[in-house]
Amino acid sequence: MEISALTIEGVREGLRRRAFSATELATEALRFAEAENPKTNAYLRFCPERALEAAGRVDEKIARGEDTGPLGGVPVAVKDVIVTKGLRTTCGSKLLANYIPPYDATAVQRLEAAGGVILGKANCDEFAMGSSNENSAFGPVRNPAALDRVPGGSSGGSAAITAQGTAVVALGSDTGGSVRQPASFCGVVGVTPTYGRVSRYGLVAFASSLDHIGPFGRCVRDAATLLGVIAGRDELDATSAEAPVPDYTAQLDGNVRGLRIGLPREYFNGLASETGDLIQAGVETLKKLGCQVKEISLPATDYAIACYYIICTAEASSNLARYDGVRYTFRSASSGALSDMYRNTRGEGFGAECKRRIMLGTYVLSAGYYDAYYLKAQKVRTLIARDFTNAFAEVDAIVTPVSPFPAFKLGEKLDDPLQMYLSDIYTITGDLAGIPCMSVPCGRTAAGLPVGMQILANHFDEARMFRLADAFERSYR
Ligand code: GLN
Repeated sequence: MEISALTIEGVREGLRRRAFSATELATEALRFAEAENPKTNAYLRFCPERALEAAGRVDEKIARGEDTGPLGGVPVAVKDVIVTKGLRTTCGSKLLANYIPPYDATAVQRLEAAGGVILGKANCDEFAMGSSNENSAFGPVRNPAALDRVPGGSSGGSAAITAQGTAVVALGSDTGGSVRQPASFCGVVGVTPTYGRVSRYGLVAFASSLDHIGPFGRCVRDAATLLGVIAGRDELDATSAEAPVPDYTAQLDGNVRGLRIGLPREYFNGLASETGDLIQAGVETLKKLGCQVKEISLPATDYAIACYYIICTAEASSNLARYDGVRYTFRSASSGALSDMYRNTRGEGFGAECKRRIMLGTYVLSAGYYDAYYLKAQKVRTLIARDFTNAFAEVDAIVTPVSPFPAFKLGEKLDDPLQMYLSDIYTITGDLAGIPCMSVPCGRTAAGLPVGMQILANHFDEARMFRLADAFERSYR
């Protein structure tokens, strides 16, 4: 069993041929993951009991001749900002170091109901704030493609696990690029679905109007399968959409002839780099596949970073107010009066990036600045979304880089938060507009660093996005 290269189809096939049982697979996957993990620190903890229980249920179904579900026996990792009942969920924060959730996120519940086997929880930036995974209170993750480099963030653990092969697929979360950017840096597929496509129930809130749960896989088909399992209306999340969920894998036929692809001028200006060359080569491949490629314009792009970092910090400052030392585990030991307890708990519990965002967010929401910053940013967000609506009147999909550069060295951007924020320049617009977008591997630099190509599609048009990504992946392999 070549565990690190297994696909969902490979698991299904192995179980069908009785090459292994789900329990044997889970046991071997756990052994392999535990042995490999010290290289990257991608898993924060394993849950062998839960994994073997889930695998046992799959084996019982097989014995009874029942369908095992679309993820039957598939080893999965879950980002540690997604709650798991009875299984410690820290959000990469000291504040939640001992938090044991009393319920499962809807995505977790659905993936287990579909036969998925959760092996453990994936490391991430604290409360999903970051682009390098260096903001985790439990140590950074190293990129499996180059161990002296970051895996990207904030879902760096999930991306590294998928790339390392220590799970077949993984769940991450994306607020401004946290699935696509680490997918690009680690050389795997990462998907941010349409806002509302996947329930956020049980995803610990960072910036609620931007937060998405999204899947990672080593191939497009696996990511599409996982999305199909977790997508769909959920009564427990009022922002989850009623829209029916198509069978994403049914449409992966390799045929993209005549598909109209837009290349936004603003995303390619000044991209004279190895990353730019690889994306250009990817575009040539799309042309060879029969796609019609044309230049388009998304004029509000220049304002995206400022807009995003106002809205996300505003929402974060409000969402993080709940960590007060009363309701969730960590409380400072050195507290006299109530106000001291709050101050000390938050002062000792939050890392520097969370504090920076709480301060920025509080500032942009304060009376006197609200109109100038927050309200203005909301208007700009509408302009950014409108750019995409206009573009999708002319094209079926948009192709761009994911990140201006490949994985950088650990520590390289740590002292310069603004440089770090610029990592997100190509990814935050998709979140601001709420459209589906993904990263698909498109080659490596001379130094062997993976580079991802971003595909964006119209609201709820994930099926077409996957079809394009899958056709690209086939021609590229
Ligand atoms: N890197 C971005 C940030 O730090 C995006 C994070 C995310 O998508 N969760 O906010």
